[in-house]
Amino acid sequence: MRNWSIPAGKIFGVELRVHLTFLFLLVFVWLTESASHGTASAGRGLALVGIIFGCVVLHELGHALVSMHAGIPTKAIILLPIGGITLLDETQQPPETGAQWKRDIRIALAGPLVNLVIAFVAGSILLAVAPEIQFWAKPYVHSNNLPRSLVWANLWLALFNLLPAYPLDGGRVLRAVFSRSMDPVRATRRAVSIGQAFATLFMLVGMLWNIWLTMIGFFLFIAAQLEERSVVFQSVLETVRLEDIMLTDFATLSPADTLEDALEKAVHSLQDDFPVIRGSDMVGVVSKQKILQALRAEGNGYVQSVMNRIFEVAQKKESLASAFRKLSARNLSIIPVVEDQRLVGIVTLQNLMHSMALLAESRKLRKEALNP
Ligand SMILES: [Zn+2]
Repeated sequence: MRNWSIPAGKIFGVELRVHLTFLFLLVFVWLTESASHGTASAGRGLALVGIIFGCVVLHELGHALVSMHAGIPTKAIILLPIGGITLLDETQQPPETGAQWKRDIRIALAGPLVNLVIAFVAGSILLAVAPEIQFWAKPYVHSNNLPRSLVWANLWLALFNLLPAYPLDGGRVLRAVFSRSMDPVRATRRAVSIGQAFATLFMLVGMLWNIWLTMIGFFLFIAAQLEERSVVFQSVLETVRLEDIMLTDFATLSPADTLEDALEKAVHSLQDDFPVIRGSDMVGVVSKQKILQALRAEGNGYVQSVMNRIFEVAQKKESLASAFRKLSARNLSIIPVVEDQRLVGIVTLQNLMHSMALLAESRKLRKEALNP
């Protein structure tokens, strides 16, 4: 998701990223405008792109602020030429409530509402200070008339985003409505397929009618794909149990082990983190790195003196999502997995990353096998 976008600062603590396709658009505008009308017009063309860019950012901030208000922090906003994608930090999602779909609809509608307000305010100001501007003269959005373009671009952004083509906001409303009667993953998949149908239609019609429509379809397709990936990721997180991916063959240390013994054991293991066991009780966790640091700083000692006594355990029936929340909440790198107080496995950050990549891959293969 991040590979195709570059960081562009922070607003209200929200990371802003620009998708590379946005830069393609800038180059495209520059080349087509300067080829036909010279560089002055190309400059105005870029200003127009800048105006649209700004309105898209405000649109996304509308989503981000409403979702923050609803208790879901925003991780990042990725800007595409047709709009943005607000990545919500759903691992922090509060326990699901019955009215979740209402909240999703409010978040989805906040963006288009921002554009409608901008269009209304800008339009009123323009009519007041420059009544000679002909609002209905074509082309509505053009670099020759930037103020008029501001109004029309916002109307266009609002209406376009209200199309029921997921991941556009209208599609999100649709998903929220679907999710009243089915589980969220199925609701999203259904909305994504409708979205991709729209995208394909845009591309086909665009080829016959207007190349811009083809580009919009193309961007919409990419956006739908980004969303689907994050949905698959989310569903992996929610449906896979720790018992499916935990390491059952692992080394443990005893608090009475010396650091040199511990290092010796660590050298023969792929593990970076070790549970520390006394009898049948878990008393702490320690990392290879911590052992090395202590050895360097203070020479030989006991595992007991360097181990971390604060740790979280998880039940083997818990989901990956829950393990992730525990790991990230306390900045841990290992979670012991227990069953009836007995240590049955460990989950480490390293092993989580590996198994998720594997799971995603195997699901993709299975899906491909089903729909060749
Ligand atoms: Zn939106």
